[in-house]
Amino acid sequence: MMIERAEGFRPFRKRKSMDAFLEVWRGIKWAFVASAAVATLPATTSFSAEPSNVVLVTLDGVRWQEVFHGIDPGQSTEPNTPVFPFLSGELSKQGPLYGDVLRGDTVTVANKAQNSLPGYQSIMAGATQPCFTNMCGRIKVETLQERLIQDLKLQPEQVATIASWEKISLAVEHVQGSHFINAGNRPLKLESNERSLEINQQQEADTPNWKDARYDKYTFAHAMNYLKSKRPRFLFISLNDSDEWGHKGKYEQYLATLRQHDAWIKELVTTLDELGDYGKQTTLIVTTDHGRGDGNDWNDHGSGYPGSKSVWIYGRSPYSKTAPKSIRAPAAKQNFSHLDIRPTIEATFGLAPKLDGTTTPPGRIIEAIVGPKASKN
Ligand SMILES: [Zn+2]
Repeated sequence: MMIERAEGFRPFRKRKSMDAFLEVWRGIKWAFVASAAVATLPATTSFSAEPSNVVLVTLDGVRWQEVFHGIDPGQSTEPNTPVFPFLSGELSKQGPLYGDVLRGDTVTVANKAQNSLPGYQSIMAGATQPCFTNMCGRIKVETLQERLIQDLKLQPEQVATIASWEKISLAVEHVQGSHFINAGNRPLKLESNERSLEINQQQEADTPNWKDARYDKYTFAHAMNYLKSKRPRFLFISLNDSDEWGHKGKYEQYLATLRQHDAWIKELVTTLDELGDYGKQTTLIVTTDHGRGDGNDWNDHGSGYPGSKSVWIYGRSPYSKTAPKSIRAPAAKQNFSHLDIRPTIEATFGLAPKLDGTTTPPGRIIEAIVGPKASKN
């Protein structure tokens, strides 16, 4: 039986054959690198008078292997089909998806530790932080969320973080109470909003058997309700079930979570497309805080698992949707890190990136997401 596959989907190969596969790719990719490296962007880009908005989604501990190559045959006997059919299929035609190691991309965690809180802190700071474990405490520098409120003169509720894992609160604010935050298994309070009360009741009666978090289904439901009712300028949706199933070594549940995440990304994009000018001017960025080990080490991550350094980044913006195909579907050997996310979001809002001056290499604006004009800020 023919299995229909998303465009560009190349099934995951077993470790043994992966090396040979990499060799073939190394040969092919150099044929493309020259043209990719000098690809020029259009000189002008039209911008709407409508203000820009950004939704950032993180999927905790989701490997590039499943994003680009589907099911790991070493961990499952299921026939290989895309695990992220929407993200790696239709959505990757509307904006670049970086981080396919087999294509030659290097998209990496910026901190030495390949753990959650260090990853989130370096994303929000746009700089490496002195944080190496999930016990490092609150971020010590101004975060992206805090800067947006300050420099765009926004109300706290226009910048929101809705997260499954409680400790996300330690990565998004260096001063508590700076913006709207709902993280962990806590009720989300919205005035005169029946839907939020309903979700609060459901999540209270349905707690996961892991610590400091609620199920992603409640986080996502709250986030969608917040998006539709408040139309925030910046919304950070942080999902977590994937990492929990990973640590438990439950590959089937990990896969099921990833497929659910993909379906939610589709629902989010469909909703944005129905929200008129607000949705049209909203940039979507999707990424992960760290990868996971290779092969049978898939369930863990951290500095002892070199494979967990590799991550992936997706971006869809008003610019990227109509950009040349070379921008939307990048050729081989793309090179980014977690540190590039904050400058890219700042540039989307017309702000010059605020770099700490000590982190090397510093974060860069991902031009293929914001467009050449906004990247010149
Ligand atoms: Zn994590």
